[in-house]
Amino acid sequence: MSASPRVPSVRLPSGEQVPALGQGTWYMGERRDRARAEADALRLGLDLGLTLIDTAEMYADGGAEEVVAEAIAGRRDEVFVVSKVYPHNASRKGVPAACERSLKRLRTDRIDLYLLHWRGSHPLAETVAAFEALQRAGKIRHWGVSNLDTDDMEELAEVPGGEACATDQVLYHPGSRGIEFDLLPWCADRGIPLMAYSPFGHDPARLLRSRALTAVAARHGVTPAQVAIAWGLRSGRVISIPKAASADHVRENATAATLALTPEDLAEIDAAHPPPTRKQSLAML
Ligand code: NAP
Repeated sequence: MSASPRVPSVRLPSGEQVPALGQGTWYMGERRDRARAEADALRLGLDLGLTLIDTAEMYADGGAEEVVAEAIAGRRDEVFVVSKVYPHNASRKGVPAACERSLKRLRTDRIDLYLLHWRGSHPLAETVAAFEALQRAGKIRHWGVSNLDTDDMEELAEVPGGEACATDQVLYHPGSRGIEFDLLPWCADRGIPLMAYSPFGHDPARLLRSRALTAVAARHGVTPAQVAIAWGLRSGRVISIPKAASADHVRENATAATLALTPEDLAEIDAAHPPPTRKQSLAML
């Protein structure tokens, strides 16, 4: 799999390069009459270089993974597929069973990156051991986590094999910057890229109307959504996974990867959406 020249790449701890800009799938697969259009949107994204697709067994109870299967049919080798296991399935026996179900829905023989969706009651050591067994069996290529704060990441790094974690997928957008205080630098020190979900915020209509994003967008002749994506990618250590089911949104998002924000743009965004000055608990959707 190679990243498109239009989309910059980010290095995983294994050394593998993946696109810094991918595609989310939450709420895809909820309605049968929309599934074809959703798969078409993902395929358009693939054509435009957004070859990392994020999904989860949770989304539409597996329906999103079925939409992904439709989108990647016949072009599996172009795509870096990310999926997630529910915390209640994250036991030694539950992980391989959930993975088999996801593989079946995805109609593939491997998941490129398999994440623990959020921390539950199963010990991290057990989940990591199950991920390692799946790697040995060739069912997953990398593993990682989602919604883990710095203290959880420290604990994870101490369990056997825990240092191989490929990413932490977390909420990150101009209105939610708490990770910049500790989690982002902690991961950067260890060469672990973060994966930013919900780049348009809890309420996209609100964030994308923010004065700062609108002003920066006007200066560049782009949209506030493109500014939000470029802002998330600015460190070179973050992978952004906006979800777009409409073709116009996919086209717009794909070109955001090449938008370079100036120091003036970043200062204006900082003034409206200040960076953290102290530890904040990890926010999640
Ligand atoms: P998001 O990507 O920030 O926002 C999606 C919404 O923005 C959709 O309504 C979409 O509309 C709209 N949109 C897309 N491109 C746009 C553009 N250029 N201009 C204006 N609106 C645009 O939110 P998200 O889906 O919550 O997050 C992204 C992905 O991250 C998810 O799909 C999922 O894969 C992942 N995620 C993970 C977690 C976790 O716990 N690990 C939690 C949340 C999300 P259309 O669909 O109509 O195009």
